[in-house]
Amino acid sequence: MAGFFAILFLLAIITALALFLSARKQRAQTGLPYGARIVYADTGAWQKVERPLFARRYGLTGKPDYIVEERGATIPVEVKPNRVAPAPRESDILQLAAYALLIEENFGAAPEYGLLKYRDAVFQVELTNELRARLLGIIAAMCRDLSARDVARSHDDARRCRACGYRGACGQAL
Ligand code: SF4
Repeated sequence: MAGFFAILFLLAIITALALFLSARKQRAQTGLPYGARIVYADTGAWQKVERPLFARRYGLTGKPDYIVEERGATIPVEVKPNRVAPAPRESDILQLAAYALLIEENFGAAPEYGLLKYRDAVFQVELTNELRARLLGIIAAMCRDLSARDVARSHDDARRCRACGYRGACGQAL
């Protein structure tokens, strides 16, 4: 009988170990820091899709893949599972910077950094004041362009127009 319980105990230990390793592997795939708590998720892994975050003051909205809390800080995490690159792309850095603005507006404090998870690497992107200023400049330029009267199409790609969400309002669609 003692042998039977010893086997049961061993099986329980092995099952617990397998679950622990599986959870650790899943977390490593997302790029989330250890000890971080998930407070917002927009990925298939967690199923639950929250509403987008808004920053009315900047006319900005967006849904980070994750927002996690680590040592009292709220950090945006963007996951690009198919992207392979030796360094973060500029567009992805600006996307994280935009999420930082959204976090600042919705959670009360700007994050100092964000995480970019590519297929084979996780990059920590410092969300500096310089990056914030650059993003605000781009947002201001986009707002000016949106209200401009003499906007011209910059390409001859009909497929791009067919897939464009602004096609209905655009006077230059191909
Ligand atoms: S539909 Fe208009 S806004 Fe969209 S890609 Fe084409 S030209 Fe650009």
